[in-house]
Amino acid sequence: MIVMKFGGSSVSNAERIRTMAKIVASQLERKPVVVLSAMGDTTDALLEAADRALDEGPDTVGPSLKRIADIHMDALKELHLAERAAETIRPLLAELGSLLTGVSLIKELTEKTRDFLVSFGERLSVRVAAGWLRSLGMNAQAFDAWDLGFVSDAQFTRAELVAGCEASVAAAVAPLIEAGVLPVVTGFIAKCGSGAITTLGRGGSDLTATFLAASCGAEEVQVWKDVDGIMTYDPRIVASALPVADISYDEAAELAYFGAQVLHPCAMLPCSKTGTPVIVKNSYNPDAPGTRISADAAGAAPVRALTSRSDVALIDIVSARMLGASGFLGEVFSAFARHKISVDMVATSEVSVSITLSSDYDLSALKRELARIANIEVKTKKAIVTIVCNVKKSSQILERAFGVCAKLGVQVQMISQGASKVNISFIVNGSQSEEVIRGLHREFFEA
Ligand code: ASP
Ligand code: MG
Repeated sequence: MIVMKFGGSSVSNAERIRTMAKIVASQLERKPVVVLSAMGDTTDALLEAADRALDEGPDTVGPSLKRIADIHMDALKELHLAERAAETIRPLLAELGSLLTGVSLIKELTEKTRDFLVSFGERLSVRVAAGWLRSLGMNAQAFDAWDLGFVSDAQFTRAELVAGCEASVAAAVAPLIEAGVLPVVTGFIAKCGSGAITTLGRGGSDLTATFLAASCGAEEVQVWKDVDGIMTYDPRIVASALPVADISYDEAAELAYFGAQVLHPCAMLPCSKTGTPVIVKNSYNPDAPGTRISADAAGAAPVRALTSRSDVALIDIVSARMLGASGFLGEVFSAFARHKISVDMVATSEVSVSITLSSDYDLSALKRELARIANIEVKTKKAIVTIVCNVKKSSQILERAFGVCAKLGVQVQMISQGASKVNISFIVNGSQSEEVIRGLHREFFEA
């Protein structure tokens, strides 16, 4: 069997659903399980509807609900399924309406309610899509993920699938495949032990798909998106960006962590454990080869891709006490842990530590605490530039990368290499990161 996951833009309207169905039909003999995101911008629309119900009251519910209903009813009408399929989605829309009204009256929106609310997006999309696949003669059946064994913890809005869930997923899916069913499964959502609906974090349907594939021993996972695969950089900024043919799980995860909107950062984990290849494909251009993510990523290019993250803060922590002493780093990092501040990059010398983190944190309390043991300097508006590459070739790559920076007159302010074996990252001023990226892209991919 294989898993085919389609993101929101690949099922955003009737035309896209027809294309999705053609792609599925062309691989029917490979026994696909289809995993879907919510249609188009439905998730954002649901979150907006919830916020408006909360802030502006019950009058907003009608228009909000209409917007969400229209996305689905318009598609059904165009697919000539309005009568039959409407039976399956109308009760969901009614429930969603009651829930929004409830939020507007109680004036309370917990993370638990928010998850319940956004779950309607995926639950609606699988019913619309399965209706179309069935009308084409395929034996499609819509499933909510919990009916196929997806159990998570209760961290609403960022739930994690629980250990042991692999077996329940495999046990639920195997008989369906055996019986010739084409399961169409909600991405992104699960239920926790108490039976409440949870979500796996934005973009979480990638994880549903890779988890399902790894659990069931699938031959591969196809992730259908609206770009030609993982790109050497964001094509909106570097027009000459190219698709990357082959990349390893670690490299792809690194790209996701460091800001590339490729896949959910945790999505690689299940498949990297089982060695299941993940193929990223473009549903707007199905003939393009896409990107193959696997353990043994072939290809000779030492540099795979670039990524960057802006709005980074750099903290320099300097203390003479660190000279020859032990426990200083422990003290520094336990302060970060106590203030629940997650750090990105770290570089150390004998008497100093430099740490980068997102500018979103309020650092005042942390600074007061660290000031007792060291001198602290915080610099904001920095950017991390990451070269995802084979670190075994780092001397050549660094020479070329710093050549680019030197030519541009850009000062590199911190560098980190080696911890993951697949990335070299450095810090520059935020205002300079785009020209550095363009220069690096020319150097490594356009020569
Ligand atoms: N629909 C959810 C989102 O927009 C999950 C997903 O698309 O993966 O984040
Ligand atoms: Mg989405």
